[in-house]
This record gives sequence, C-alpha cells and structure tokens, in this order.
Amino acid sequence: MADLTFALTDEQRALKAAVYDLCRQFAPEYWRELDAKREYPEAFVNALTKAGYLAALIPQEYGGAGLCVLEASLILEEINRSGGNAAACHAQMYIMGTLLRHGSEEQKRRYLPKIATGELRLQAFGVTEPNAGSDTTKLQTTAVRRGDRYFVNGQKIFISRVLQSDLMLLLARTTPVDQVTSKTDGLSVFLVDMRGIKGLEVRPLRMMMNHSTNALFFDNMEIPAENLIGREGKGFSYILDGMNAERILVAADSIGDGRWFIEKAVAYSSQRVVFGRPIGANQGVQFPIAKAHMAVEAADLMRLKAARLFDAGQPCGAEANMAKYLAAEAAWEAGNACIDCHGGYGYAEEYDVERKFRETRLYKTAPINNNLVLAYIGEHVLRMPRSY
Ligand SMILES: Cc1cc2nc3c(=O)[nH]c(=O)nc-3n(C[C@H](O)[C@H](O)[C@H](O)COP(=O)(O)OP(=O)(O)OC[C@H]3O[C@@H](n4cnc5c(N)ncnc54)[C@H](O)[C@@H]3O)c2cc1C
Repeated sequence: MADLTFALTDEQRALKAAVYDLCRQFAPEYWRELDAKREYPEAFVNALTKAGYLAALIPQEYGGAGLCVLEASLILEEINRSGGNAAACHAQMYIMGTLLRHGSEEQKRRYLPKIATGELRLQAFGVTEPNAGSDTTKLQTTAVRRGDRYFVNGQKIFISRVLQSDLMLLLARTTPVDQVTSKTDGLSVFLVDMRGIKGLEVRPLRMMMNHSTNALFFDNMEIPAENLIGREGKGFSYILDGMNAERILVAADSIGDGRWFIEKAVAYSSQRVVFGRPIGANQGVQFPIAKAHMAVEAADLMRLKAARLFDAGQPCGAEANMAKYLAAEAAWEAGNACIDCHGGYGYAEEYDVERKFRETRLYKTAPINNNLVLAYIGEHVLRMPRSY
C-alpha cells in the first residue's frame, strides 16, 4: 500500500521554495504584458528549463531530474501560486509519459536528452478535432503508411504551443473506423518533428487567455515511420495511460491558482477599508474566501493521495479524476471570491485578478471537461449506467 501520509519531505518543501523564488523573478508586469500581446513567455520557459524543472519527469539516465509525479505537480503548483501561468509549459510534463512508457529505446535516446537540456521542446499535443470533440474515438485525421513514411491529412483544433515547440505528439487514425474491431483501436501516436516540416498549416487562435493555441491543417504531412510510438493502432490506449498523470498535474495548476486567489483576497480584504472597517471583517466577504480556502485544501489532499498512489505504481484513476475536478472547481470558487472582494479593482488589469480569473477558468473545460470527469466517477467508480 502506498504511504498516504500527506506531509511533504524537506526536499519537497525545498523544491517548492526554489521554484517559487525563481518564479518571483518574473514580476506581475511580465505576465500582464505577455497576456495583452498574447505572447509566449520565452524568458520564463527558458529559465525553468535551465533550472531543470521542465525535465522533472525525465529519468536521470536521459539527462533529466528523475523526479516523480508528486514533485512535478509541486513545481506546477508553485508557478501558478506565484502569479505565473504554468500552462505555457505544463504539457511537456504531461506528454513525457507517453514517450517514456511506450517509446523505443532509440526514440528515448534520440530525443529525451535534448528535451532535458532545452535544445528541443516537446510541448505540443495534438488530439482534439472539430468533428470529434471530447469523443476521441471519433478522430478523423488520418495517417496512411506508404513505404517508410506516414502521410497525414485532416485537421485539429485548439492545439497549443505548436509554434513554440519542436516536437508534437500527434494522435491520428491509421485504420478506418469501419475496419476496427474495437472503437478504441485504429488510432496511433506519432512523435512529429516539426522543424522544417511541410504540409502543416498552423493558424493561431486568439483565445480568452494567453495560451498559444492554434487550428492545424494537414495536407500530406510526412512523418518517418520510425517516429511511430509503440504499436500501430494502439495509440488511444497509450494516451489513456497518460491520463492519470495529466489529471494530477492539471489539478496542481488549479491548486496553485486557488492559493494565489486566496492570498490575494485575504491581503486585499484585510486592508481595504469601507464603512470604517476592513471589508474582510464582513462575513459576506470573509466567508466565501474561507469556503474557497477549504475547497482548495480538500482538493490538495486529493491531489496528494492521487500522486502518492501514482508514484507507488498503484491504480489511481478515481483519485486522479477527483483531484482534477475538485481542484478546478476550488480554483474557480477562489477566483470568484477574489474578484468579488476586489470590487471594481478585480476587473482592472493592473491587479492581475482578472487575468488569473480567465486563466483558471480553462481547467473546468480542458484538458478534459468536468462533465466527463463526473461521467467517469458515475460510470467507472460508482458503476452506474453509461451515458455514452
Ligand atoms: C485554451 C485551450 C487549449 C487547448 N489545448 C489543447 C491542446 O494543446 N491539445 C488538444 O488536443 N486539445 C486542446 N484543447 C482542447 C480541449 O481539450 C477541448 O476543448 C476539450 O477536451 C473539450 O472538447 P470540445 O471543445 O470539442 O468540447 P465538446 O466535446 O464539444 O463538449 C462541449 C461541452 O459539452 C459537454 N459535454 C460533451 N459531451 C458530454 C457528455 N457525454 N456528457 C456531459 N457533457 C458533455 C461538456 O460540458 C463540454 O464542455 C484546448 C482547449 C482550450 C480551450
């Protein structure tokens, strides 16, 4: 049984403190300006990479830090708690697992050390399509093998960091739907080296928050067959395999956001005086902040439980999904309490609350929407009838 005590070790606390210190070198103005221009935080991502944090999950034998998912989640939490936005780079951690678990030794030796040093970035993950949405088994983008190459045709939507990444993990259909025995078969994962690639059109989308998100169009985009990860047709199960880590890491993003909102709300409402007393003395202001704090703390416990189970190699699907849901909802509650207590200032860019409010909203929808998490709990944990 995994050790389910929730205290962090001295090393884990030191890791959090070091990440927080690094992040504080990037002032709120830095994030604000990038947000206004919808620009990628190059300097921040380079600093994180140089410090080794983005290689947290790469084993030491490939040049990484060889940390576990709990520690990776602490890194993401601290980025968001400091007022930054881990979304600029968190996918490198999510994606890594697919390459680590299912990539060949040759693929790992070729790419991982360069990802660890920052020479290559693997931050793009191409799954979502306009006609499939949350139903990944309905993906239509095809990858057809001819000789030693696959030719990709189709389109993807909302694929982030493609223009800032060298490599993209791509899920595409290698067997037509009507020829598969199981609906989860027939999809394959590729590690696409996008440097100088032809047949890929990237159209940036201006989104609610600064997220470097794009629509992709493939017109006979060529991938060498050696860049297929694992077995052809088994890609869906490889992606599912990585979902628990993804859920835990995205929960950490939300927990960091939640803590930032609470700290900001407490500080502001304790010093802002209206009607002759700090607004935080009013229960209408104080209680929503207290409730949101409890929600964030509860989500944190579930994140710690899920991460400890994951790192012990034990089943954690229920816990990872619950952590993701609880954390996204808690951060949203904290965001609302924070914007409310700031009154009009909550809407002013210079207070950063509105930016974080927009950023944290995403986690109720992506990388998986909270309705599908509820469906997972209902159907897989509580064994209730399936809705889809
Ligand atoms: C900023 C941003 C960045 C993103 N980055 C990436 C990326 O890098 N790579 C990538 O592959 N994808 C990315 N996505 C896509 C994201 O994962 C999807 O938007 C998300 O999974 C939902 O898919 P959809 O938008 O097609 O919504 P749909 O599947 O159309 O669903 C719409 C809504 O309907 C509801 N719904 C759907 N089906 C059910 C059901 N069975 N039961 C109950 N409710 C249901 C849900 O509430 C859902 O929110 C990104 C999205 C955003 C907004």
